[in-house]
Amino acid sequence: MIPYGRQKIDDDDIQAVVDVLRSNWLTTGPKVQEFEKAVADYVGAKHAVAVSSGTAALHCAMHGIGIGPGDEVIVPSMTFSATANAVVYVGGKPIFADVEPDTLLIDTEMVEEKITSRTKAIIAVDYAGQPCDYDRLREIAEKYKLYLVSDSCHALGAKFEGKNVGTLADLTTLSFHPVKHITTGEGGMVVSNDGQMMAKIRQFRNHGIATDSVQRDVIGTWYYEVVDVGYNYRITDIQCALGLSQIIKLPRFLLRRRQIADRYRGAFSSSGIIEPLVLKTQVEHAWHLFVVRIGFDRLSLSRADLFQQLRGDGIGVNVHYIPVHLHPFYRENFSTHAGMCPISEKAYEEILSIPIHPSLTDQEVDYVIDRLKFYTTE
Ligand SMILES: *Cc1c(COP(=O)(O)O)cnc(C)c1O
Repeated sequence: MIPYGRQKIDDDDIQAVVDVLRSNWLTTGPKVQEFEKAVADYVGAKHAVAVSSGTAALHCAMHGIGIGPGDEVIVPSMTFSATANAVVYVGGKPIFADVEPDTLLIDTEMVEEKITSRTKAIIAVDYAGQPCDYDRLREIAEKYKLYLVSDSCHALGAKFEGKNVGTLADLTTLSFHPVKHITTGEGGMVVSNDGQMMAKIRQFRNHGIATDSVQRDVIGTWYYEVVDVGYNYRITDIQCALGLSQIIKLPRFLLRRRQIADRYRGAFSSSGIIEPLVLKTQVEHAWHLFVVRIGFDRLSLSRADLFQQLRGDGIGVNVHYIPVHLHPFYRENFSTHAGMCPISEKAYEEILSIPIHPSLTDQEVDYVIDRLKFYTTE
């Protein structure tokens, strides 16, 4: 099966992990800070806090900006459920905004319509790896005094108007799950220029304790204080060693993703049935996903049929995403329902994510193109 996404691990990645296993620090050691610095330097942000997952990073972000009961946070419906779940973790209410039909990025006009006196923040999601309209989102956030958080779990390495993802919002979250651009197995990070907020997030990662074990070791004391609520969201040195070895390859990984995307876009440009999402002119896309919309209304097969046929051919297609407001948890607890975000709901019926990852060969890409065209000829 050709998966829609997967990690690329070489011998040097394995060696980096083995070296840590032979060292004194398996967790909360030097590799964590080194990895934080490497990512912060790459994106051009002042601060980074590495955590155990992208979901933990989102939870940290919600805590960092102080979301609590009664607060509303605007999120796009076309995202992974973790984006909205993080709002719920801190007692907030996710308010679902619809997306633009051609890019499936949050519709900024819709965002402004959803703002109330209880709105505290917007979480923008750089869906598939394409940055949202941060000019407009910043304007809205400033006008209504809201925090702007970027869920850039799809978009490490992307740019908006020449500026790196990681510098476009108050806080940015990243994921290092194996299908993302670089991996630590499980892992995530918050990046920001706001030192005070990041100090709070650093504590939140470690039980709300004011000092970390390295600091206590240096001073030679057993004393510590819990000064805030916190969790164990730490990431290990084993994972960060892998992350450090991977980030060196990020430019190569991104280049390969862009080559694959170009090949797909070229192949589908004349198809009236297979429509890749629109690539905006002012961005550098990071191509976490390659999403096509398919004109099933003009075909005799359904999305479920096509999904099964392609899987039968060894092509691991997927669907990103079921609009979050349609999930039972949100229907039952937040009274969401079908019809609330019609553009996301319509897109959901038509989208398919086809394989894109750095170790995919041109032959495999051509095979995917060939099979997809075969099933979608009128
Ligand atoms: C992957 C992802 C997450 C969660 O990241 P994990 O590391 O899997 O917890 C959150 N939001 C989006 C948009 C993602 O794609």
